[in-house]
Amino acid sequence: MNAQKTALLSVSDKTGIVELAQALHAQGVKLLSTGGTAKLLADKGLPVTEVAEMTGFPEMLDGRVKTLHPRVHGGLLARRDFPTHMAALAEHNINTIDFLVVNLYPFEATVAKADCTLEDAIENIDIGGPAMVRSAAKNWKDVAVLTDAAQYDAVIAELKANGVVSDKTKLGLSIAAFNRISQYDGAISDYLSAIQIGDAVPAGDKAPVLDLFPGQSNGRFVKVQDLRYGENSHQQAALYRDLIPAPGSLVTAKQLQGKELSYNNIADADAAWECVKSFDTPACVIVKHANPCGVAVGANALEAYSKAFQTDPTSAFGGIIALNTELDEAGAQQISKQFVEVLMAPSFTAAALEVFKSKVNVRILQIDLPAPLGAVQASGASAWDQGRNLMDMKRIGSGILLQTADNHELALSDLKVVTIKQPTAEELNDLLFAWKVAKYVKSNAIVFCKGGMTMGVGAGQMSRLDSARIASIKAGHANLSLAGTVVASDAFFPFRDGLDVVVDHGATCVIQPGGSMRDQEVIDAANERGVSMVFSGVRHFRH
Ligand code: 5GP
Repeated sequence: MNAQKTALLSVSDKTGIVELAQALHAQGVKLLSTGGTAKLLADKGLPVTEVAEMTGFPEMLDGRVKTLHPRVHGGLLARRDFPTHMAALAEHNINTIDFLVVNLYPFEATVAKADCTLEDAIENIDIGGPAMVRSAAKNWKDVAVLTDAAQYDAVIAELKANGVVSDKTKLGLSIAAFNRISQYDGAISDYLSAIQIGDAVPAGDKAPVLDLFPGQSNGRFVKVQDLRYGENSHQQAALYRDLIPAPGSLVTAKQLQGKELSYNNIADADAAWECVKSFDTPACVIVKHANPCGVAVGANALEAYSKAFQTDPTSAFGGIIALNTELDEAGAQQISKQFVEVLMAPSFTAAALEVFKSKVNVRILQIDLPAPLGAVQASGASAWDQGRNLMDMKRIGSGILLQTADNHELALSDLKVVTIKQPTAEELNDLLFAWKVAKYVKSNAIVFCKGGMTMGVGAGQMSRLDSARIASIKAGHANLSLAGTVVASDAFFPFRDGLDVVVDHGATCVIQPGGSMRDQEVIDAANERGVSMVFSGVRHFRH
């Protein structure tokens, strides 16, 4: 085994490679290299051996096979401290390789070109390069692996100063190498997945794909567009969508008219759409600042909208309106009387669209409703395909909080009546309606409902009592009577005071999760006040 160190250099991006090779040569390192790289180094007068000469195999298949040879991988992978490994090298006349300098075929740059064909992309998938990088990075104690020209100077400086590269540096290089390979494979997989769904990954000089959970289908996002700004004008923002978006989700919407959607429009439209698509009968949801300010079901779009609007006409101004049913002319005429930012529905009649033609700023989105879950299961599609399994994420200081989405759907049979008084059939219907709405209202949520419409929505307060008070104040402003209403509370009443407030305002039936230490106090209060109460057994905090 010769004591002379060997470096294998095989780079597509030749930046800095001549200087590096000169420095390695000056340190007495033997140079091995592949076709193009070897030619460049030889042209600069460096003594270099071609890998093909070392392996006794020519480069073949248009370069697809250059370095995939035991003489290369044996030299990279052999553990110098294992006598059996070294004996095997000696037996097969293989020399160790101590430095590997590789950068890969420019896959990312190739697919970023507007005229890139699938064939171009495929030919730019490097095979032997990543294989060598993995071998060297795995055997990091014995091999320094350089995958980026930015690493060259530091390694040379260390070599000059100490004659060796430290373990710390080699481990750092190995980690960088695996990161590079993971990024590279991610780019290939993202590109091909996007082709598969008939939609090329947008080109651009910024990496368009965010891979939050490599290897999982539901953590990869592709950039759709930069937004003018974020929540406020001094914030930058962009919209990314799932690489494979769930059908019927907001990002699959078609914008039929109107100004470009803003960050807040998209956030609110998503909240409205999530809520409205949870109803099985014609429904309308009006959202302001991420909270529903009016929700109703009705015989058709007109009735559902009119009822939803009545809840809080003041807040509905400039709202985001979502319908889960076709919008016809009558509904459109009614909606056009208010200032609306975004209007969404699964379909619009031609006459309905005509109503908004002159209101060029109104953003109209057509979004297909997702298929009912039963149909999805029968078709063999996964819950993920329907967006029902999405991970929910929230940014914190230096990390993210991840949770599965709040997919819980309450059935009548889940309800547990805890009071002497039983809810009427009509109240039960309203309870389920109110519960559905409360799920989409920011906590603490108190929602008064009657006859399939919201009568007062208290959202986002730090105290449940204040949410209850606000909901009733809003009903007063809208001239709605809360007598005989049902109330949904997204979490339990910690004391009887919240219940007292809603009953004082006219509620006769309440739904809440239960589970408080003082449940009995609250049940006793409901009995004392002569109202009915049911426990859902599940909480819907939303922050
Ligand atoms: P060169 O310009 O030296 O001819 O080629 C350098 C490029 O070839 C590097 O990007 C390196 O990653 C890549 N490469 C090295 N060995 C192989 C191999 O066996 N197959 C393929 N497809 N690429 C290789």
